Amino acid sequence: MVTIHNLGFPRIGKHRELKFALEKYWSNAISQDELLQIASALRKQHWQNQNELDWVPVGDFSFYDQVLDMSFLLDNVPKRAKNLSDNKLDNYFRVARGRAFVNESDCNCIKAGEMTKWFDTNYHYIVPEFSQETNFALQAQHLIAQIKQAQEQGMKAKPVIIGPVTYLWLGKSKDKTNKLDLLDSLVKVYVQLFNELAKLNIEWIQIDEPILVTELEPDWQIAFKKTYATLADSSIKLLLASYFGTLQDNLSLACGLPIDGLHIDAINAKDEVQLVINSLPNSKVLSLGVVNGRNIWKTDLSATLLWLEPIHQQLQDRLWLAPSCSLLHVPVDLDSEQELDSDIRAWLGFAVQKLEELRLLAQVLNQEQTGVTKEMASNIDAINARKYSPLVHNSAVKERIAKVNDELGNRQSNYKSRAKVQSKKFNLPLYPTTTIGSFPQTLEIRQARRDYKLGELSTEKYTQAMRTEIRRCVKIQEYLGLDVLVHGEPERNDMVEYFGQQLSGYVFSQFGWVQSYGSRCVKPPIIFGDISRPKSMTLDWITYAQSLTHKPMKGMLTGPVTMLNWSFVRDDQPRATTCLQLSLAIRDEVLDLEKSNINIIQIDEAALREGLPLRKSQWQTYLDWAIKAYRISANGVSNETQIHTHMCYSEFNDIIEAIAHMDADVITIETSRSNMELLDIFDKFDYPNEIGPGVYDVHSPNIPSVASMVELMKKAEKHIPAKRLWVNPDCGLKTRHWDEVNLALTNMVLASQQLRKN
Ligand code: GLN
Ligand code: ZN
Repeated sequence: MVTIHNLGFPRIGKHRELKFALEKYWSNAISQDELLQIASALRKQHWQNQNELDWVPVGDFSFYDQVLDMSFLLDNVPKRAKNLSDNKLDNYFRVARGRAFVNESDCNCIKAGEMTKWFDTNYHYIVPEFSQETNFALQAQHLIAQIKQAQEQGMKAKPVIIGPVTYLWLGKSKDKTNKLDLLDSLVKVYVQLFNELAKLNIEWIQIDEPILVTELEPDWQIAFKKTYATLADSSIKLLLASYFGTLQDNLSLACGLPIDGLHIDAINAKDEVQLVINSLPNSKVLSLGVVNGRNIWKTDLSATLLWLEPIHQQLQDRLWLAPSCSLLHVPVDLDSEQELDSDIRAWLGFAVQKLEELRLLAQVLNQEQTGVTKEMASNIDAINARKYSPLVHNSAVKERIAKVNDELGNRQSNYKSRAKVQSKKFNLPLYPTTTIGSFPQTLEIRQARRDYKLGELSTEKYTQAMRTEIRRCVKIQEYLGLDVLVHGEPERNDMVEYFGQQLSGYVFSQFGWVQSYGSRCVKPPIIFGDISRPKSMTLDWITYAQSLTHKPMKGMLTGPVTMLNWSFVRDDQPRATTCLQLSLAIRDEVLDLEKSNINIIQIDEAALREGLPLRKSQWQTYLDWAIKAYRISANGVSNETQIHTHMCYSEFNDIIEAIAHMDADVITIETSRSNMELLDIFDKFDYPNEIGPGVYDVHSPNIPSVASMVELMKKAEKHIPAKRLWVNPDCGLKTRHWDEVNLALTNMVLASQQLRKN
């Protein structure tokens, strides 16, 4: 018999119930008891959703973040948060977000724990902190209560925890402490935990060690061996879970650990499965993640079964099946989607549907065929319909892709020659000033967009409202004395959504929310088909804005790599191909803008860096196709057209050559918080083009002073010659208020004037 289980279920709730409950609690609109009740009901619901499984995950529910839960379970709570109050949950929120309540008195506010991305997903975790004083102790009440709740509900509970090696690896040492020195004391607490869980009649624990899919230094490999040698003494069976990638050089390490079962991501590491079967001692369970936990497409059940049947023959009862990773990364339930195109909807599966697929797979493998024929047939229909659908395939796009050559990504001349032509054309002063694109999104413009979407505002009125806002933005920029203006992006709710909605090949769900961090959720658009651009997407707004001023107006676009990285993408063609399609659509927009005399165009690649693969050895392949796609979108213009690009996280020491290869005339980046330290790389690498290192931290409400910005620019000059420097904020201003922005930009312009005088 095949066993089926799940690695984790989304906790936010089908209609983001947890998000709303948390936000109400933080603003004192509900009590802690009410919050706990909502949480308990959600857990109950989610176990109910999973009750066909042989094992359900417990401990995957979290009020904020599962890594932070682990820190609290291990009593690894930062000193600044200890003893703030007797209320443990409130302290937990203080570590998560600096304060438990919106109106909390300052003495209870602390520096929030640092937040960073969970592997290559868009989920963010709170980074564990370590120091010499770190002292682990078991605080498992929260987990134990959840296990009891699941058991009372009649569930076969499989606790899910983060493994000690990954936990250490994810954290940061706040002093010079070597994290691995903490391993022994950490593992002791895990042993205690297992003893506690044994008392609850727990049979299996899932222990997540996703760092097994990254390149591990020898000392970390040794840490694995030591850790699991100790944990092997437990009476509970351990299922070690890796996911998000391939094991490669960690394969024999993982297979050789004294555990009872191994889970691998059979979507990403399908090619390794046979090798794992050969290496894994035949007393051990192999759990294969055969349903994609990172994407929203239906699984091709027949193909999966065809592949699984011989594996099942070989492994028999040792074969377990699961989603590839926790379902945290997909929306909850497709049933909520009533407005999606019905053809496309039939191709999709969210968390609930993915578990249904697992059940079907197991039923067929276990030869309990009764009743599955209909469901299998409908799966086959959906898979075939998608494969051959005219909605997906557009021959014109495919023909165009086939003709793409690298030449398309080359500018007519090199930067030096372009710079001469552009300097004559734009005649900009030294230290030219500009902004990154968006201006504050006031309540009125949000309301206008909403009303228009609901059909409550006519196109004419909507256009008027947006034009009024554009006019205001242009006036203010002229008044402030900025050199290169923007239209302010009032028509855009989100930089990917805005373009996705106008491209063929994209659809948008209504409730397809995925947790990004804490109570924050995102609704990634879905790329289902070949991408094309039926008509221009920005031209009207930008040319209108240009008509209002004699200063150059910067056209503002989102780049292909960012569009790709912030969407759910097709699984029937390589990411690189989808990216190229996006790139051609953006290229057309760039050329349309150029034709209409928009001669400065910015193509944002905010998410370029976060697409880097987990293994460094795969970086170059990604960078090759990603940069190529960017270049094709941007570089079809004449020498006179100035191309800008913008990137948010500018830690690009290790990819600076790729950045330079984009060959943008100007790149604007986020640097102010790092005090320009991020520019150190420019000493070693001679970046040839112009650069605008952000001098205004837009993530803070503080108004930067003239002096502070002058000082930052002087630092920048140590790395980059003044004649290639621009003055601009770190990122877009859409989340700020007008009064802040007015003051900050006034100072920014003054700073630039002062620099020119020197
Ligand atoms: N042009 C976008 C804006 O200004 C860029 C946003 C981003 O980099 N995240 O909002
Ligand atoms: Zn940015």
